[in-house]
Amino acid sequence: MRIASFETAVIEANFDWTIVRLQADDGTSGLGECFFAPGLSSALAEFSELVVGRDPRDSSPLVSRLIQASSGAGGMSGVLHNAISGIEAALLDLNARKLGIPLYRLLGGHYRDRIRIYADCHGGGPLESYGPLLLRRQPSWSPSAVGKGSLWERHLDLEPDTPSAYAERAKTMVAKGFTALKFDIDVPTPYARDEANGSVSNRELDHVVELVRAVRDSVGADVDIAVDCHWRYATTDALRIARALEPFGLLWLEDPVAPDNREGLAIVSERSGIPLATGENLYGTRPFRDLFTTQSVAVATPDLQKVGGLRLGQRIAECASEYGINCAFHNISGPIGTMGSCHVAAAIPNFLVLEYHASGVPFFDSLVGRNGNPIIRDGHVELSDLPGLGIDLDLDVARTFAKPGTSFFGTEVPSAVL
Ligand code: MG
Repeated sequence: MRIASFETAVIEANFDWTIVRLQADDGTSGLGECFFAPGLSSALAEFSELVVGRDPRDSSPLVSRLIQASSGAGGMSGVLHNAISGIEAALLDLNARKLGIPLYRLLGGHYRDRIRIYADCHGGGPLESYGPLLLRRQPSWSPSAVGKGSLWERHLDLEPDTPSAYAERAKTMVAKGFTALKFDIDVPTPYARDEANGSVSNRELDHVVELVRAVRDSVGADVDIAVDCHWRYATTDALRIARALEPFGLLWLEDPVAPDNREGLAIVSERSGIPLATGENLYGTRPFRDLFTTQSVAVATPDLQKVGGLRLGQRIAECASEYGINCAFHNISGPIGTMGSCHVAAAIPNFLVLEYHASGVPFFDSLVGRNGNPIIRDGHVELSDLPGLGIDLDLDVARTFAKPGTSFFGTEVPSAVL
């Protein structure tokens, strides 16, 4: 059995959903998704030369070969991790389809067949779409104009981040069946003294507390609430925020300090009574092990479309389990990546909840042709006995939303005419 073709497609959604499709010489195919990155399509094209002609059943040695080649080419950058993640997922999907078994069986079997999903509620407004450098863009298929600026400035020209807006957003998502929500609290306020130094004024701290209080009051005690800080705060300010949010029974406080500030993370963890989460920007197993051994994180949040593969995600989870730490996978992918993460979530004991970031994307479900049946129902994804991921891409729908100027499984998508 040999891999006969290696093709990619980029769906222009809230982010670029980059899909890898591998086909073996017996006709079996597999799909995987990569986290976006500048230059990702070029990296995938380079990797295809190392993948085509290999036996897909030897997926681990093949992935090791890709890592070895990357290391020899100047080190494993984030973009190469993202590329390898999508390739590895496609290999596993292909192998599971060949065997006629669901992917979770290839991963050792399932602890659960309903995967709990949390709704990322960030801005709470209409669809926002971002290119690989997180600059806001106008999707080619969207009639409504969007403003300019980066993801990090997104709140400046949208609805103000008021407690009542947060409460309404929370109620809307709970009405859709979600039992876990996540909100950003690192939002611009009129009270910030200095955006650059990571400090929090007293008025700003009060505003953050009121945002979280509004969400908690609107949904009650039965809904889990997580909040994300996007590495924004200086250590002592992060600690003030963590302590101020202790009364709200949060599921976790995510990324309160800069990504490399491990000591700061440990301080916030030790001196506050709030569970901390981090991991979406970590690659490979080693940085996670460092976090676990110091117990400075309560929830690990690897992103399985960038960390290095689905099996690697499972290994990280198994390592976390040894330290009594749960996993809540970061996920901003489309349905292919989301289902890949669901199969890993099924196959580990210490799964907590999986992110869903695409509630503003109108074609998330139709992309995989489920005849109107949503992938996420009542805040859960139900896994089936179907082979592989259990879903297939609807090529007609996918082609409609393909990113202009990219390859759609070997066919060029014309550049947008503006
Ligand atoms: Mg985050």
